[in-house]
Amino acid sequence: MTFDRVSDAPAGAPGALFVVSAPSGAGKTTLIRKALPDLGAVRFSVSATTRPRRPGEREGVDYFFVPRGTFEAMVMQDEFLEWARVHENLYGTPAGPVRAALDTGADMLLDIDVQGALQVRSRMPQSVQILVVPPSYDELRRRIEGRGQDDPASVAVRLSNARAELSRFAEYDYVIINDDLGEAVENLKGIVRAGRVAMPRLASRVNAILSAFP
Ligand code: 5GP
Repeated sequence: MTFDRVSDAPAGAPGALFVVSAPSGAGKTTLIRKALPDLGAVRFSVSATTRPRRPGEREGVDYFFVPRGTFEAMVMQDEFLEWARVHENLYGTPAGPVRAALDTGADMLLDIDVQGALQVRSRMPQSVQILVVPPSYDELRRRIEGRGQDDPASVAVRLSNARAELSRFAEYDYVIINDDLGEAVENLKGIVRAGRVAMPRLASRVNAILSAFP
């Protein structure tokens, strides 16, 4: 998934960093896809992963597909902003491109799991953390079973992981309960727009305006 367009960030302000996470089946990917076309320039970080490539996925676009040894070397060299094991595979956000984009004023969105999101929070406290929550246990189970991708044992694992992930809700800035998709999309857009005008991000611009006052 790529929405990598030219930045529309205000001159002189660093980019805003949005981190969206959710338990498997909560509808995060659909939500992001539907919200982004109305949000102007937001760049997606391309993660590295040890998971095998799925049909239709493109190297360097959907992920950087790397062998485990390469991933471990990147961990040793501190190349990741965060990394985590998710469903038996390793996933990590390369730090360089995120920092470079933010430095040039581009907004970035990370679609990463809960463990990774909380690592980003501690390393980049200015990031905006968003948790997508299913409307109920029953609905989450229906959605996971309805995808038909998982046998009963892995459905059970996903549901128990979901409980662990959701129990960390209090560490997030924003929560989107994905009951009505249209409303959830509007809420995500609202959070991104608010994040762009958060005070710390615009402090240097306001200071510049102030300094020109007689
Ligand atoms: P999938 O393998 O289905 O593409 O992704 C599985 C999960 O891994 C999703 O919840 C996705 O958000 C998460 N994920 C993808 N990239 C990263 C990453 O760089 N770091 C972390 N911590 N999670 C990631």
